[in-house]
Amino acid sequence: MLVDNFKNQNAAAPFFKDVSSVQKVAESRLPTEIGDFRIAGYRSLTSDEEFVVLYKGEFRENIPTLVRIHSQCLTGDVFGSAKCDCGPQLRRAMELIEREGRGAIVYQQQEGRGIGIINKIRAYALQDEGADTIEANERLGLGVDLREYRQCVEILRDLGLKKVKVLSNNPEKIEALRDGGLEIVERVPIEFEPSKNTLKYLTTKKLQMGHLLHLVS
Ligand SMILES: [Zn+2]
Repeated sequence: MLVDNFKNQNAAAPFFKDVSSVQKVAESRLPTEIGDFRIAGYRSLTSDEEFVVLYKGEFRENIPTLVRIHSQCLTGDVFGSAKCDCGPQLRRAMELIEREGRGAIVYQQQEGRGIGIINKIRAYALQDEGADTIEANERLGLGVDLREYRQCVEILRDLGLKKVKVLSNNPEKIEALRDGGLEIVERVPIEFEPSKNTLKYLTTKKLQMGHLLHLVS
């Protein structure tokens, strides 16, 4: 019913940018190894996508606040995969927010830049044979990056944020935050020294996807 209601509202006012297409449906405390956070679940009103946001502190429009849109990476976030830097990035973001006492991480459940975990494992198999992260997706007939961040930004605005310090190396995410009406006062790089496992992946991200990485080793 909610979806239908939203569609009707949206049809009536298609250019009204402040129409929210996400809804907070649950919220609780979440103590972690890094510190005490709050966690909230959001649902999209236009698809069956669900989002999680981990945050702490009080949000005020005039206080620049650390934010990150973190794209789910089961292999990196949960299993500690050394093929990418997702796990360390997530942990670093949590640590910085804990230290500052204020910030939010939207956890976007679009595994493998949107291709899903099974296709990601297929892509890893092609990478075992020498393909890079982009070639692997292309050989599987999949897009290189299917992610869309508009609703992640709506969630940050729903939390009451306006001025943000972005924890990201990804120019598309930074642009999405700006397009979504947030004021970016700073970009906080979130970068690790490449290992022999991550160097090729990070080099491809830098050279072919425009990620803001130094890659000094
Ligand atoms: Zn990853």
